Parts: sequence; C-alpha cells; structure tokens
Amino acid sequence: MFALADCNNFFASCERVFRPDLEGKPVIVLSNNDGCAVARSNEAKALGIKMGDPLFKIRDIVEKHNVAVFSSNYPLYGDMSRRVQEVLRTFAPSVEQYSIDESFLDLRGVEKADMAAYAREISRSCRRMTGIPVSVGIAPTKTLAKIASKLCKQYPKLQGGCYMHRPQDVEKVLRKFPVGDVWGIGRRSVKRLNAMGIGTAWDFVQMKEYDVRKLFALPGWRTWKELQGVPSVEFEDYLEPKQSICVSRSFAKEIRDVGDLCGQVATFAETAVTKLRKQGSLALEMAVFAMTNRFHEDDLQTFASQLVVFPDGTDDHTTVIVAAADAVRTFFSHRYGYKKAGVVFTRVVQKEGFTRSLFRDSDTDERDERLSQAIDAVTATFGPGAILFGIQGDGQIRSSHEQQSPHYTTRWSEIPKVSVK
Ligand SMILES: [Mg+2]
Repeated sequence: MFALADCNNFFASCERVFRPDLEGKPVIVLSNNDGCAVARSNEAKALGIKMGDPLFKIRDIVEKHNVAVFSSNYPLYGDMSRRVQEVLRTFAPSVEQYSIDESFLDLRGVEKADMAAYAREISRSCRRMTGIPVSVGIAPTKTLAKIASKLCKQYPKLQGGCYMHRPQDVEKVLRKFPVGDVWGIGRRSVKRLNAMGIGTAWDFVQMKEYDVRKLFALPGWRTWKELQGVPSVEFEDYLEPKQSICVSRSFAKEIRDVGDLCGQVATFAETAVTKLRKQGSLALEMAVFAMTNRFHEDDLQTFASQLVVFPDGTDDHTTVIVAAADAVRTFFSHRYGYKKAGVVFTRVVQKEGFTRSLFRDSDTDERDERLSQAIDAVTATFGPGAILFGIQGDGQIRSSHEQQSPHYTTRWSEIPKVSVK
C-alpha cells in the first residue's frame, strides 16, 4: 500500500497556525509581489475566490467579507513543510516528498489491522504536532492514493483519512472521478479523451491496453495500470540533486544604484550557494542577470546578463558572492531602472567524484572551506541573514510583500510571544 499525505490549503493553513483567531475565517495568500491569490482557505473558496485571481479583481470581496490577505512567506512554508515531513517519517519506512505540501509514503511492509484508522492517525498526528490539516489517502498504487486523499477533502466524515482498496469501492469512486483530475493526465490528454467520449477515470480504465499505449505512450499506460491497482510508478525516497539552481526576484521599486543592485544580487548568490552546498554540489557556471520593467513602455529597456565560469567548480560563499557582484558591475548602467535580477547556476556537478585541478592552492581552499562551513553553521542556527557579507548591505530583499506574516519559525527575532494574563 501507498499513502499520499496532502496538506489542505497549505499556505493559508501555515498562516493560520500562528493566527488562531483566523480559524473559520476566509484567508488568502498572494503570489510574489502581491500579484494574485495562490492559496485560499475553504471559506475563501466558498466566497468564489479562484486560484490565480489577481488581487485588484477581488478587492470588493476581500473588503466586504473581511478576507485576511497575506503576502507569501516562503521561509515559513518551507519550514512548516519540513515539520510535516518529520511527522510523516515516523509512520513509514520511506517517504518521498512530491511537492512542498504533498508526500508519498511507502507502506510496503507496514502491517496494520485497520488501514483506515492508520490513515486517520497520520492525519491527526500531523495536525497535533504541526497545526497543519492533512488529508491522507491509502491505496494499492500512488495514483489511487492521490484520489483517496482528494476524497478526504470532499467528505469531512472521513476525518482526514481514507483507505480505498476494495475493487467495488474503487470502481464506485472512479465512475464519478473526472479523468482530468487523475494524477498524470495532462490537459492535452484530457481534450483527446473527452473528444473520444471518455469523461471519467472509469471510462479511461475501460479502454483497451493497445489503444492506451498507442495514444498516450508510456506515462499514460502507467496511469492506466495504476488506476487498476497495479503499481507502475516508481517510488523515489531520495531527492535528485538539482541540475541548475536559480534565485531571482522582482523588486518593489526599480533599482538605479549600482551598490544597491550589487547588494541584492549578492544576497541572491548567497541563497543560491547555500542551496548548492546543501545538495553537495559544485557550480561550474553562473549566469547573473538584471532586467528593466517591461510594462513601463516609455522607459529605456534592457535585459543584461553576464556568464561567469568556474573551471574548477566552486561551492565557496565568498568566491560566488564576489563574482556575482563583479558581474553586475560589468553591465550596470545608470540609464536603466532595474526591476528584476537573479543568479542561476547553469552547470552543476556533484562534488563527490568531481576531479578538480591538481594545481589549486589547497591552503587557501581549506581556509575558504572553513569559512564557508562557519557561515553554514551560523545560518543553520540563527536563520538566513544572521551573518552577512558587507556588500549585501542590510541583506533585505527589496521586493514587495507588504502583508507578510512574521518568520515565526526561522528567525529568533520574530518568534511568537506568549503572554499570560
Ligand atoms: Mg495541498
């Protein structure tokens, strides 16, 4: 059996953990730079707020119904996600994180007399230990587990846990389940399926194997098998190291000062190196870019970028930050107002097994590595921004997130305070 644990309305739920006064009230979370709604509590959904609605379009609803609006707070969501993961790991020998709010649990070898009760127990534990409501579906395949977890959201009676395994139950569910909502069925496939008169997951299962192979190739065939209870999608409980790492933001106000832009880019570079080091990689190439606001048609426009090559590979904080700031200086011009900038490691290799040049200065290397490790340690303990390079200025990103909640769990200065009266 496999389980899929899906956090309900994840970002909105994270905000509520620290704002219990918002329980039962409509809550939405906005995308970067406060553009559109990317998460909605059930109450917000009931008001008709759609995923991706721009804030200006729903202003009236927000004001009339007193909707709580938050800028996105990714450090908080990332940390809450890690906490949910930790709870899940106590329930299964291996856990595969599928996205920030969804994980698969491999329950092969887990013997439980009552699997439905186990699903509810996982859900209850997550709620109790992290404050996040989680829907847990258990089924013979990952694809069916995902469907089972969706049922939890439809039927509160299930108390967050659904065990779906008897063929007659699966059939009953699939007969009502839109084929487009099945995991692994893309938008284009839905169009083709609907054109063939196939509307539900059950219709899809009734297709002949030959037709499925012919029309949808291997991934579609795997989904078809999975819906019939035959596990066909690999379980991966390790994270593939990323082949490229990108950190970029747009700014609330255009930047016209070279020192300011260098500082912002240095902070992006710092975040990128931290990610690089976490996955044990070296960067061989880094692109640094900055662009103007393309919606301001009267202003001079530019997209500037500079490629930096590290022939020997690097994961050194200082090297990368200095190189990133130098790259900005090569293209910066006072004629432009820069609206967005970023750093991308375009070539990344695993440190282990990578042969570096024989003629490197190993003494300097060792000293740099000790400094980098010290930075990692300080950041891990006190949060990002606790230690800064001078060039980073105050280390704050100038993006607009006016309604962001505090970094409750990742910054000591913003930890919730409790007062007893
Ligand atoms: Mg979710």
